[in-house]
Amino acid sequence: MGHCAAGDAWRAAVSPKSSLRDNPRSSAHVRPPESSEKHHATTIHMMNSRTSVESLSSFDLLSATRELVRKSRGLEAELLVHLGEIDERKLYLDRSFSSMFAFCVGELGFSEDAAYNRINLARAARGMPVLLEALRSGQVHLAGLRLLAPHVTIENQCKVLAEAAGKSKRKIEELVARLSPQPAVPTLVRKLPDRPTPAPESPAFSFGTTQPVQPPPASSPALALAPPPAPPSPRRDERRAVIAPLAEETFKFQFTGSRACHDKLRQAQDLLRHRVPDGDLGTIFEKALDLLIDQVKKERFATGRKARHTPSENLDESCSRHIPDRIKREVFERDGGRCTFADDRGRRCTETGALEFDHVDGFARTHLHRADRIRLLCRAHNQHAAEQLYGRAFMDRARGLLEPLPRPGSHSG
Ligand SMILES: [Zn+2]
Repeated sequence: MGHCAAGDAWRAAVSPKSSLRDNPRSSAHVRPPESSEKHHATTIHMMNSRTSVESLSSFDLLSATRELVRKSRGLEAELLVHLGEIDERKLYLDRSFSSMFAFCVGELGFSEDAAYNRINLARAARGMPVLLEALRSGQVHLAGLRLLAPHVTIENQCKVLAEAAGKSKRKIEELVARLSPQPAVPTLVRKLPDRPTPAPESPAFSFGTTQPVQPPPASSPALALAPPPAPPSPRRDERRAVIAPLAEETFKFQFTGSRACHDKLRQAQDLLRHRVPDGDLGTIFEKALDLLIDQVKKERFATGRKARHTPSENLDESCSRHIPDRIKREVFERDGGRCTFADDRGRRCTETGALEFDHVDGFARTHLHRADRIRLLCRAHNQHAAEQLYGRAFMDRARGLLEPLPRPGSHSG
């Protein structure tokens, strides 16, 4: 029953003016017996809905989507209330499930993650309805609330939820680390067991950290070479790097590196022994990153390079594609190392990665490098700008997505 209600609401949300009931193709006066006919009607409806979505203007498409999001948040909050009540009544026992979790997965068809998140939040929300309100209003998303729930109290709820408002999951993880600081993790460099299957040629190393059973000693952690643990063969997702906040100013890092990486680390520790006597990994890492960031910024954006102003450089400005260093530097600093694309409401893109220099008037047209006509754009917005300037078909060809057009005047065959 609850399933039907949710489905109807979804249909109404997708197509507010023609709900399933008003649709002559599916509003059979006699209810179909279930199963295939119902499925058929839904399929037709979804196809209609897709056609009608395709005919929407971009403005209408965006506002219809916002409306859907608003409704789905309301539904999600409502669902949590229902789950909380089922849990409270232990109805899953009557349905021959041993736990609420098993019921959610087995009967409601949730994934394990979704079941876990919803049950936890549903339980927390019974004592603190403000969590549901935060979900319904869109103040905080489901994943964020699940993280926050164990740390929200009657006393801090308003402050914490206000602080979490509009934040990404990663930012909320940092907020949680501040609310509930964890002790530093011990430094570990650990050799992982060799894997027989598609492992890299050289044995992998992990500059790994493990959750401490007890807080580590206050003295700075010495680099410990731990023996390999019992050989569980790590799955691919276990090899993914981890960067997790521990407290307001501390993070846990964990990743798998090559033997060469390990050897370079040891060498760096040796070379820095006079400045970092304990060889602290975090300190050495930060120093290495300082150097790397400096170097890449110099290469890509000419920052920190000595200003060199020669007549030949000026000459280059008009013929070569190479943007002179002083212009790169000026643009990078002026734009604050961030994409400058702004939408019609003036909201600026937050991207700081994969930045590119964009000639506002198109270099192919002007063959000019001028700081006031060059801006930083992220790759996606640079492509977007180029498509608007040169046309999509041209850019697709430029990227090799289409067959190149024959050059004017050159007739093949
Ligand atoms: Zn951008």
